[in-house]
Amino acid sequence: MVKRVNEPTYQINPGVHRRFDQRNTVFMRRFWDREAGFHGVEYRDLAAGRISANEAGYSRVEFARLLASWTVHDCFRGAFSWERLGQADPSMMQFGRHEADPGVMTEEVKRTARQFGASLVGICRVNERFVYSHDRSGDPVEIPAGCTYAIVMAIAMDKDGVATSPQYPSATATGIGYSKMAFAIACMAEFLRNLRYKALPMGNDTALSIPLAIDAGLGQLGRNGLLITPEYGACVRLCKVFTDLPLVADRPIDFGLTDFCRTCDKCSQACKAGAISTDPEPSFDVACRSNNLGIKRWAVNADRCYEFWAENTAACSNCISACPFSKIT
Ligand code: SF4
Ligand code: SF4
Repeated sequence: MVKRVNEPTYQINPGVHRRFDQRNTVFMRRFWDREAGFHGVEYRDLAAGRISANEAGYSRVEFARLLASWTVHDCFRGAFSWERLGQADPSMMQFGRHEADPGVMTEEVKRTARQFGASLVGICRVNERFVYSHDRSGDPVEIPAGCTYAIVMAIAMDKDGVATSPQYPSATATGIGYSKMAFAIACMAEFLRNLRYKALPMGNDTALSIPLAIDAGLGQLGRNGLLITPEYGACVRLCKVFTDLPLVADRPIDFGLTDFCRTCDKCSQACKAGAISTDPEPSFDVACRSNNLGIKRWAVNADRCYEFWAENTAACSNCISACPFSKIT
């Protein structure tokens, strides 16, 4: 049963927790962390060798489709612009800022998100704790004044593709999810700008999506380190738009996931990298340098995960497909 609750379902030790530095993700550490086993490794680097081995699910055609799936995300950088894209439509310039009841605008924003491809949408106040301290270039992250609301969207991924994990079609489902994210945030941001409000569209950049999604009532944190939603399990990609449009925040939800994960180990069993904890209880322990301190959870060893991706020559979704809430296997 899904209950609305007053407090988020994660636990933070405020004396220890610090804003996360995006340079500490494995995707950035591969550039600078000489102690990491994956230093200098781009996980797709050895794809040519894997393709020539003629294994099912690792063909050249499937790899071509995988790379193509990322096109909108990787090539349409305007999706992540914090400024209006192009010229404002002259008809919109006749209007000043749209003033309306926050409850009414919340419904309009949610309707818009669904129309632009969001499978789930929720609203939360931006908790600065979850804004990165520094971006991938090492620049401090500052959120413009007034952008206090986050519109958090979940994009459901193609279950048939994810079911093939860790083969290339599952990574294609991931890439399609990212490209749909770029479309949804770009259009949502322009919608808000047309109403003369600020809009900061984001994928995985700028702030941690999972705690914001928990705050916005989309799901809970699973043993696999992913957001688990009641509707789609872990089979979603997350994106968000920060705005100064006044909205009404949703309450977090609790559907008993933490208790469920205590006795379920399907994701850790399915992980070929041994990256997911088998501990009976969540704790404040970390598993690698890419885990932030001060969060109670089952910490995922992101180093082992990335090393498996490199061996696999593609992203893996085993911990998504194995989760009973994803309803895939
Ligand atoms: S993505 Fe794959 S390797 Fe990484 S934690 Fe999930 S199951 Fe393990
Ligand atoms: S597979 Fe089981 S333990 Fe892992 S996140 Fe899903 S419910 Fe939790």
